[in-house]
Amino acid sequence: MTETADVVIIGSGIVGSSVAYHLAQAGCTNVLVVEREAHQGKGSTGKSMGGVRAQFSTPVNIQMSIYSIGFFANFDEVVGYPADYRAHGYLFCATEERHLDYLKANRERQLALGLENVEMVSRDDIAKFVPQLRVDDVLGGTYCPTDGFVDPHSVMMGFMLKARERGVRLWLDTPVTDIDVENGQVSGILTNRGRIATRVIVNAAGPWAAGVARMAGVDLPVEPLRRQLVPTEPFDKLPKRFPMVIDMSTGFHFRREGAGILLAWNDPEETPGFKTDFDPTFVEKILTRAADRVPCLADAAVNPRRSWAGLYEMTPDHHAIIGSAPNVRGLYFANGFSGHGVMHSPASGRITADLILRGDSDLIDASQLGLQRFAEGKLLEETAVL
Ligand SMILES: Cc1cc2nc3c(=O)[nH]c(=O)nc-3n(C[C@H](O)[C@H](O)[C@H](O)COP(=O)(O)OP(=O)(O)OC[C@H]3O[C@@H](n4cnc5c(N)ncnc54)[C@H](O)[C@@H]3O)c2cc1C
Repeated sequence: MTETADVVIIGSGIVGSSVAYHLAQAGCTNVLVVEREAHQGKGSTGKSMGGVRAQFSTPVNIQMSIYSIGFFANFDEVVGYPADYRAHGYLFCATEERHLDYLKANRERQLALGLENVEMVSRDDIAKFVPQLRVDDVLGGTYCPTDGFVDPHSVMMGFMLKARERGVRLWLDTPVTDIDVENGQVSGILTNRGRIATRVIVNAAGPWAAGVARMAGVDLPVEPLRRQLVPTEPFDKLPKRFPMVIDMSTGFHFRREGAGILLAWNDPEETPGFKTDFDPTFVEKILTRAADRVPCLADAAVNPRRSWAGLYEMTPDHHAIIGSAPNVRGLYFANGFSGHGVMHSPASGRITADLILRGDSDLIDASQLGLQRFAEGKLLEETAVL
């Protein structure tokens, strides 16, 4: 007998799990999540740095963050599972006038959208947050205390457990190999466990989303791009608690992770591709940037074997693609978060569920995130990508 579901979600990472949760909360529970791996979190979600911030430059990203951070703040109570939200803040440090102008303009936009706690900070303020920072060339910056961190794995599990309590099914070890489309309408998916009949499919396949879209004959501009993170061994020369600090001169950023420090930097030489191996030569590159901004980090011990790599899911304008496929009825995308899929998972799950169940969302004007924007030349450029 063919299995059937009202909605099939392909991928059980943080985004697919949030879509499942939001559908179930709205009463849509005949939902089947299919995941090719033996357990959840083996895609980008398990590799994330867990940063959440509302300090973006475009209204849509700011709005998605405001909703999502509010959601994380109440997650434990509402979902019944810990998000481990830590409001330690994000501190952007500008070393050029143009950076400062950019931060000021972003702040105006953020304030206008209701994010009232973003502060302009001086060099002295910045030095107080992290006295070990080299600030001779720092002109100032911005700080938002409700930005911070969550535990991505825990959020994903919370979403999925709550969805399952309400009746959503999760099939692990189930790769989707094809999508059936009849007369421009999806009718089912093929898996190693047979065919599943459905008229609604959500592509939540993270960096693999373009391959899944291709199964339905749709060209989805989502490219995998490797990102590498380097944790130090226990390090006590920096404060026990401090915000995520972003050095705008190089893009180097860092935060505390337990007893050590987690170092991140976007290598401009990285090229698209499914590369998930950690490149040991990255250690020297990042330590050079780290020691330049935080001289005492030159003393931090780093074990390349504890470092890791994962994939960002990049779109041409660094914004998510959320909504239905223009030419295939019943196919929805929740893809292309360009490195912000954890922090935007509450909003993207809610918006996707709204679009499936009601055709629009009162959270944002979702039409701006539709796939058709690329064909129509209506790109949204987010410059605050870390
Ligand atoms: C190093 C690094 C640091 C990051 N830091 C941050 C951060 O600080 N803050 C932030 O918000 N974001 C961050 N991100 C980005 C974030 O991790 C992603 O945007 C987010 O996890 C995407 O979630 P997802 O559920 O869409 O994808 P994934 O977690 O990749 O889940 C997709 C799932 O789909 C499954 N799948 C794929 N194809 C198929 C198929 N054919 N059949 C069945 N299943 C399939 C995969 O197995 C996978 O489980 C970071 C990413 C990396 C790599």
